[in-house]
Amino acid sequence: MKVLVASALLLVGSCATVRHSEKIDNLKESISYDQPEIVTKYLNTIDPDELKAHVEEIASDKYKGRLTGEEGHNEVCEYIRDYYKNQGLVPPQSHPNYFQKVPKEVLPDDLKDSQNVIAMIKGSEYPNEYVYFTAHSDHEGVQDGVIYPGADDNGSGTAALFEIAEAFKLAVLDGYIPKRSIVFLHVTAEEAGLHGSRYYANNPVFPLDDAVATLNVDMIGRVDERHKENEDYLYVIGADRISSELHYIIQEANDNFSNLSLDYKYNSEKDHNRYYYRSDHYNFATHGVPVVFFFNGEHEDYTKPTDTADKINYPLLAKRTQLIFATAWYLANSENRLTKEII
Ligand SMILES: [Zn+2]
Repeated sequence: MKVLVASALLLVGSCATVRHSEKIDNLKESISYDQPEIVTKYLNTIDPDELKAHVEEIASDKYKGRLTGEEGHNEVCEYIRDYYKNQGLVPPQSHPNYFQKVPKEVLPDDLKDSQNVIAMIKGSEYPNEYVYFTAHSDHEGVQDGVIYPGADDNGSGTAALFEIAEAFKLAVLDGYIPKRSIVFLHVTAEEAGLHGSRYYANNPVFPLDDAVATLNVDMIGRVDERHKENEDYLYVIGADRISSELHYIIQEANDNFSNLSLDYKYNSEKDHNRYYYRSDHYNFATHGVPVVFFFNGEHEDYTKPTDTADKINYPLLAKRTQLIFATAWYLANSENRLTKEII
C-alpha cells in the first residue's frame, strides 16, 4: 500500500513559499494504491444481489420501522450482531456481546433504552489505530398505523457496511489483514437527534485520539432530482474540513475504482441544508476526528412510508459501496496514518 512521498511532504511542511496549488499537487501525488488489483478483487465481492437481500431484510415489516428502543429495533440490532458473528468479526473486548447500551436517560423522554452495535477486524500492524464506519440502524417506526420501512434511510447504509465487512473478511482469509483496525459501528437514535453517535463519542470504546477517520453512510441507494440524467453520482460531505488528505484519498479511490461523479454541492459551508451537521459523523468531527458523509441527497420518498426496498437502485448502491470500501482500504493500509493537516 502506498505511501507518502517523504521528501515532497517535508518540502510542504518546511517551505512557506511553496504555492498552494503546488502543495495540493504534492499531496495528490503522495496518494496512490500499491496493489490496485488486490483492492479490485475484494471490491468485486460487493454485489447488488447481496445488497438487495440485506436491504429487504432490514426494511421488512417484521422490524416495524425500527423505532429506537422498540422491539422491532432491538430485533434488527440482534440481526446486525448475528451477521457479524457469522462473518467472524469480533466484538470489542470491553463489550463481548457486541452491544453498547445507550440508556434512556440520554435519549428524548419518550424513548426506551437502546444500543449501538459494534463489530471489528483487528489490524495487524497498528491494531490501536481505528478506521470507523458508521451507519444508523434506527428509523421512524410506525405512525398512524403505517410502517416506515426506511429502505434507503438507512437500510442502504446498513447493507453497505455488511458488504464492506464481508469484503474485508474475505481479504483477511486470504492473508490480507488490514494494518489498522476497522470498526463497524451501527448507531441508534439518529432520527431523534444523533443520540447514539453522540453517546459513543462521549463514551468511546477506543480512545478517539486513536480514531483515524469516520466514514458515515446514511442513504446511498437512491437518486435525487438533480441527478436524474446522470445517476452515477454521490455527494461527499465534510471530507476536507479536518484532513485535506482524506478529501484527495476519496478522489483517488474514485479515479481508480468507481468513476462516480463526486458532487460537493452540499459540502459548501454556505449550503442551507447543513447536512454536515445532520448525520452521525458530526459527533466524531466535534472531537477532531476526520470524517466524511456519503449521501445520495433527498428524494420523493425521504422520511415517507414509501421509502421501500423495491425503489433502491442496487447496481448503483454497489458502485457507491465499492468506493467507500476502497477509501477505507487505503486508510487502513497506508504506510502513514492519515494526517489532520488542512492545505
Ligand atoms: Zn438517515
